[in-house]
Amino acid sequence: MDTLRAAKYPFLEESAAFAESQSADVFSLVFSPSYAPARKRGRGRVLESIRRSEVSYVPLANFAYDRLMEVLSYPYARMLVSCVNDRFLTKRYALAESVRMSGLLEEERASTVISIAKELKVDAVSKDDMLMMHFTDYLRLSSRIKSVEWKLVNSELFNGNVFLSNDKFCRALQNSLQDKIESELPLDVPKDIKEEMANDIKFVEAALIEMKTKFGDPVGGDVAVESFPPCMRTLLIGTQNGLNLPHSGRFALVSFLHTLGMDSEQIMAMFAKSPDFDESKTIYQVKHITGEGSGTEYTPPECSTMKSYGICYEPDDLCNSGRFAHPLTYYRIKTRPYGRDGPKEEKEKE
Ligand code: SF4
Repeated sequence: MDTLRAAKYPFLEESAAFAESQSADVFSLVFSPSYAPARKRGRGRVLESIRRSEVSYVPLANFAYDRLMEVLSYPYARMLVSCVNDRFLTKRYALAESVRMSGLLEEERASTVISIAKELKVDAVSKDDMLMMHFTDYLRLSSRIKSVEWKLVNSELFNGNVFLSNDKFCRALQNSLQDKIESELPLDVPKDIKEEMANDIKFVEAALIEMKTKFGDPVGGDVAVESFPPCMRTLLIGTQNGLNLPHSGRFALVSFLHTLGMDSEQIMAMFAKSPDFDESKTIYQVKHITGEGSGTEYTPPECSTMKSYGICYEPDDLCNSGRFAHPLTYYRIKTRPYGRDGPKEEKEKE
């Protein structure tokens, strides 16, 4: 049995088999003093997912005990997340575990990547050391990644399989593990186990509340979200649901919100709704676009540029009316006090 692999990827069947071979069960994991390191690391996994949206990798010495603790920390973390039972936490935890896996997989041989893909029910093969995934799996796993480079038409196909670079393949698998974890949680945790875990549950709840209150209520004030053009509404919903927006999409959305009068703090609050929110990275990007970091305030791109970037999502009748060329004008038309069909609805001069 490869105990290092079992510890690095604790969601594998062989990880459960490793724990079983050491006579570890859920009861001893929660109650036995000898499994305290596994509980501590399990709590750490969840706290890291809240604070950093990524679970760190702990180098595993050649000791079966360390590896067993690492394996067991995973079911403990899952039970903790289940006990708190908060949708945002579940999504953020699933993302953090899958980001960890994706980073580790990038360093592995193709054969290891393929075998883990198969365990995640992804139809994958390698040809001349190149990784390939069946196009149906590719479509399922890439649908939430909005960058143009992920579109099937921009990919190379062979016998129904899509050729992928190592990092893109691992990125797609990240979505697969994220879906798997989300679909499996919450677990039904028995009452006595829940009681024994009460302290750790409180710890996690406190960290979650701290993170949520830090950023308060997202879009508010005078901004009328219901009047956003379809492109910005799609980008906003994507952001708040942890979809991977292309850089151009993030730029367009932040500059749009800033032009409507939102400051960096309000925009940060909006991004904080996303399960993959990373405070330090986001604040840098937001301040750069709003001019707080660079001194240059950017304005959102016009419709033709949005189209060329592939982020003119679901244009509606007003978009297709030909009366404007900029998403901001759409918003202004919609928020006029007399409505979009009022007396001053003459053609917009761009
Ligand atoms: S036409 Fe313009 S406003 Fe409408 S969805 Fe496209 S980019 Fe947005």
